[in-house]
Amino acid sequence: MSKWVYLFTEGNANMRELLGGKGANLAEMTNLGLPVPQGFTITTEACTQYYEDGKQINDEIIGQIKDYMKKLEEITGKKFGDKENPLLVSVRSGARASMPGMMDTILNLGLNEDVVEAIAAKSGNPRWAWDCYRRFIQMFSDVVMEVGKKYFETLIDKMKADRGVKQDVDLNADDLKELANQFKAEYKKQLGQDFPEDPETQLIEAVKAVFRSWDNPRANVYRRDNDIPYSWGTAVNVQEMVFGNMGESSGSGVAFTRDPATGENKFYAEVLMNAQGEDVVAGVRTPMKIDAIKEKLPKIYDQLLSIANTLEDHYRDMQDMEFTIEEGKLFMLQTRNGKRTAKAALKIANDLVKEGKIDKKKAVLDVEPRNLDTLLHGSFVKSELDKAELIGKGLPAAPGAASGKIVFTAEDAKEAAADGEKVVLVRLETSPEDIEGMKAAQGILTARGGMTSHAAVVARGMGSCCVAGCSAIEMDEANRTFKLGGHTYSEGDVISFDGSTGNIYDGPLDVQEGSIDDEDFATIMEWADEFRTMQVRTNADTPEDAAKAVELGAEGIGLCRTEHMFFQGDRIDAFREMICSDTVEEREEALDKILPLQQGDFEKLFETLAGRPVTIRFLDPPLHEFVPTTEEEIQKVADAKGKTVEQIKAIISSLHEFNPMMGHRGCRLTVTYPEIGVMQTKAVIRAALNVQKAHPEWTIVPEIMIPLVGEVKEMKFVKDIVVKTADAELKAAGSDMQYKVGTMIEIPRACLTADEIAKEAEFFCFGTNDLTQMTFGFSRDDAGKFLSSYYDHKIYENDPFSRLDQDGVGQLMKMAVKKGKETRADLHCGICGEHGGDPTSVEFCNSLGLDYVSCSPFRVPIARLAAAQAAIKQNA
Ligand code: ADP
Ligand code: MG
Ligand code: MG
Repeated sequence: MSKWVYLFTEGNANMRELLGGKGANLAEMTNLGLPVPQGFTITTEACTQYYEDGKQINDEIIGQIKDYMKKLEEITGKKFGDKENPLLVSVRSGARASMPGMMDTILNLGLNEDVVEAIAAKSGNPRWAWDCYRRFIQMFSDVVMEVGKKYFETLIDKMKADRGVKQDVDLNADDLKELANQFKAEYKKQLGQDFPEDPETQLIEAVKAVFRSWDNPRANVYRRDNDIPYSWGTAVNVQEMVFGNMGESSGSGVAFTRDPATGENKFYAEVLMNAQGEDVVAGVRTPMKIDAIKEKLPKIYDQLLSIANTLEDHYRDMQDMEFTIEEGKLFMLQTRNGKRTAKAALKIANDLVKEGKIDKKKAVLDVEPRNLDTLLHGSFVKSELDKAELIGKGLPAAPGAASGKIVFTAEDAKEAAADGEKVVLVRLETSPEDIEGMKAAQGILTARGGMTSHAAVVARGMGSCCVAGCSAIEMDEANRTFKLGGHTYSEGDVISFDGSTGNIYDGPLDVQEGSIDDEDFATIMEWADEFRTMQVRTNADTPEDAAKAVELGAEGIGLCRTEHMFFQGDRIDAFREMICSDTVEEREEALDKILPLQQGDFEKLFETLAGRPVTIRFLDPPLHEFVPTTEEEIQKVADAKGKTVEQIKAIISSLHEFNPMMGHRGCRLTVTYPEIGVMQTKAVIRAALNVQKAHPEWTIVPEIMIPLVGEVKEMKFVKDIVVKTADAELKAAGSDMQYKVGTMIEIPRACLTADEIAKEAEFFCFGTNDLTQMTFGFSRDDAGKFLSSYYDHKIYENDPFSRLDQDGVGQLMKMAVKKGKETRADLHCGICGEHGGDPTSVEFCNSLGLDYVSCSPFRVPIARLAAAQAAIKQNA
């Protein structure tokens, strides 16, 4: 028989997988001898079992719950459902990772008509008794029967109005008794049955409800945002009640050992007198602050402070605690490592090292990599956010906070920004031409597209905020309006959105700028660099992006997408002339125009990187992304090439592809048009030679990366062109400069035949955006349209384009590394998909033994920290 239930005295802090965070810490506090009301924890395994059994608690588990209820009766000397000395309990959720406010808790369980009358009479405090009862009915109805809070709140408001009072505490025993009766009537009206009187039924229903709450919509969203697997389940804690609502010497509160906003080493607490727990968060009255507590409740203050110190020393981290005072006596109800801002996280980790409480390793592990986003980008002021009206949610595509007047075109964004206006660009989707407008805007919001859509990738590269794929937007581009969250927005109306959460708000919100000009940040990053074994490079296409990345600690360029250089200015013209060529000669003519531009760009990159490695990927995109579309553009190309508009249009239509993502792109371009590969090789080698000459102190070894290879012969064909061209260039220059030719691994076939491909490729870099797309067989730009149904049905839990799919794509990577190294033992392997900046994906890459990860510039610090944590964990 399995053990499904543990007394608090049977557990400890290391058992959080089984007991959940709350349960494990209640056990640990019990072991430390702190005043904790006793109870027991029903395990997370019981929750998993509940779902396996088709949302039923099986008899074995029910049997153990009843046995433990008996044990709790012995421990407390009280009896469940008894009129003389009743045991009342709370039933509390508690997952492995804390999910504040995501699941449910019920207080005062065990009360019924008889028990409440009895305790009202016996305690001489009928107000307390009836307050407990009405709260219990309210919470049970809400949580267990999902009746909805609003009916009860309306009844309370009505009662207060009838009695002419403002606050709940001003209602007397009779009022509360009457409310309890009204609540029960409401319950019956809503559900067609009587409120359960039998405490055991109440208990089992409540446990089921907590298990069920693991699967509520807000918990599902929270888990997806925070990397918490659905399979974990929640534990349930059943705990003897202590009462903060017994009068003026009772209360409920929260405390932090340090300031969670700034990290300052300053004890902080808040108490609401004559209240039960949920009142504190509900903000029904103003709580007493730390100075008042010290003055009015000096004994409690001292005891609380001493417990706070004990707990912080014990857990060696800032603690967030919940407590209750029952008639002057303090009880601890919860402790956990407190949530904190990035700034606070860095300061606390540093201070704890200075105070000798933790070592550097733990300091590095204690800072959440994803949290650094708010330092690198702006964020909304928390207090304002709580008041803001949420109107929708899209994908958190590029972190940051944007607030401004709506514009609908990149042109308008540019103009408005030039006039000093703050604008946000709202688009159905973005295209390469929008780039300047995207730069000018505070942020970009799109109705379509996923985490690797153009808007998302470009915004991340630039460090600007982007919420992508908000499919709830009903866009009317022609009339420059859209509908969202029950509002209709027109040009000039103000909205705000958060690229870290994907949340979209009505109206303006204050943005506080991020800053890494912070000693604590520098120190933690320095330590992280000491521990990590993987290198961190960046995906940068322009010298500006590259410079930013180097400033943020990048050790090289892992991916320079050569086509992105053509998004800028009038370069697109030369590129279009190249695409719209009929003959080799025509194409070479256009390529001749492009060569010096590319060479110049590469020179700047080599200069910016000052001898650090630079991987340049050859032309990759589906050409249709660049073909001229408007009459004006077509005319321009026609003029430049001395052709008619009809001729250009014929070329364009010959370029049409049914499935461009799987079409004429990547190395296939050089297979069909070798002159493209020749031009790009010349540009890379000439640029490297020039910069090397100007800087003999550096050793420049250019790395040429061939995209979309799936077959070794294809790789060899392109490589031969590169080598022939490069060697001729080097010979002409009389140089012995080294260079490398490798490949991007982004087609499943390349993974399956990696041993063959490694015969030609000198390095592998996993392009996990395409590899994910090709492995799943769905488009990275369209997946958003159906993924939410996959989330609803728990088929996939995450967007595989933002979090590497370790079971599928990851296995292909593992195979490719293994096979590749069988052929070439020193094969250099890295990743340059968007996953290179995602902490869990970085950890996975570390376990594969990759040499480097490469990510967009603003994710470099995140990747450095994540790589350090991965190395520390792997060596532990
Ligand atoms: P959450 O995870 O949402 O914080 P909790 O399970 O911690 O939910 O419960 C919320 C609050 O309910 C606690 O902070 C505490 O004030 C109150 N509470 C829970 N259990 C008890 C108890 N046994 N006695 C008194 N108050 C309790
Ligand atoms: Mg709590
Ligand atoms: Mg690719």
